[in-house]
Amino acid sequence: MESKLSSLHLMELENQYGAHNYHPLPVVLEKGEGVYVWDVEGKKYYDFLSAYSAVNQGHCHPKIINTLIEQAKKLTLTSRAFYNSELGKYEEFITKYFGFEKVLPMNTGAEAVETALKLCRKWGYEKKGIKEDQAHIIVCENNFHGRTTTIVSFSVDADAYTHYGPFTPGFIKIPYNDVHALQSVLEQNSNIAGFLVEPIQGEAGAYVPDDGYLKACYDLCKEKNVLFIADEVQTGIARTGKLLACNYDEVQPDILILGKALSGGAYPVSAVLSNSEIMDVIKPGQHGSTFGGNPLAAAIAIAALKVIEEENLASNAYELGKIFRDELTKFCKDSKIAEFVRGKGLLNALVINNSTYKNLAWEICLKLKENGLLAKPTHTNIIRFAPPLVINENQLQECLEIIKTTIRKFETI
Ligand code: PMP
Repeated sequence: MESKLSSLHLMELENQYGAHNYHPLPVVLEKGEGVYVWDVEGKKYYDFLSAYSAVNQGHCHPKIINTLIEQAKKLTLTSRAFYNSELGKYEEFITKYFGFEKVLPMNTGAEAVETALKLCRKWGYEKKGIKEDQAHIIVCENNFHGRTTTIVSFSVDADAYTHYGPFTPGFIKIPYNDVHALQSVLEQNSNIAGFLVEPIQGEAGAYVPDDGYLKACYDLCKEKNVLFIADEVQTGIARTGKLLACNYDEVQPDILILGKALSGGAYPVSAVLSNSEIMDVIKPGQHGSTFGGNPLAAAIAIAALKVIEEENLASNAYELGKIFRDELTKFCKDSKIAEFVRGKGLLNALVINNSTYKNLAWEICLKLKENGLLAKPTHTNIIRFAPPLVINENQLQECLEIIKTTIRKFETI
């Protein structure tokens, strides 16, 4: 029998043989079910990261995994050189599900963002009539849209872009949650093809814009014949308490970008959705992906989206999110460390006062881990809390106790 490696040994292996492009919490997971994960020594944890909101349906959801197994036994990949038996069914399903006419299937979030940018530029030249190589896309400061060279070209995070240049031109950065900034660029520049925005800035620390921000931006875009592109890779698929975070403002984006929970974490599946008028600018041979639209992904994505609906995960996220923020807001009133909580649905962030001790958020996460809850700090002073949406109220209350007890221990230090 193969002897089992310890957490320590497995971390050493990653450290020695893997690129050091992440700084993981020191926990080695080997099993997951619903809201729980287990490390290799058998310790059980609540997962409050959900693989950056990919595991909205809970770990190893049986309906998704069974679909994966059944489809994997039949056919996994054909490339798009041929039709496959699952893709058309999936395309019909996802377009009707989100109310669009067409979908372009990809694999990762970053690829879907790239696809949306290409689609937007092409539309800008071929439909809007922008002169060749003049198209600009407006983006927001503190965005996170992925890691490709083009995407990091418009990041404001030095870690994300330093020494990866030369960068792709054609992007104009404006402050997030600032309608006037958008209006002023739109008024000064007639070469704008699109506005790319996260409905809530997830990686920035669950930064929620004002109510009505998205709608006001959408209306301005319409006025100027500019495409409103929503990156809902993290906020979409029930995470924020509605199917899409754009639903809060009743905005139907011109281009919608989805990823992560589109597979419930079982497989990389992403998608770009729009109406035919936009999507049809891409003709055969002009964009593609070997894996995009493969039958395994197609079958899994249908199963994953059905789970969202069947288990009412959007309303569960909405209700439990309110309880979570209410409880933590009360807690923050008496805490010197926990400043405030913000978020929507079950995408929330607790802002930590780290003025006396810079690594406090990281230290809190280490203690949370010891106490059976996994969460990860972002930007040194923010802890994101995003459990799988299948969590129930009792489990959430237990987690709130863990969070409060853990932070209280730091108050006296
Ligand atoms: N867009 C947003 C809003 C994201 O949060 C992320 C990932 N955190 C991405 C795009 C990139 O997705 P991926 O890591 O699958 O490329």
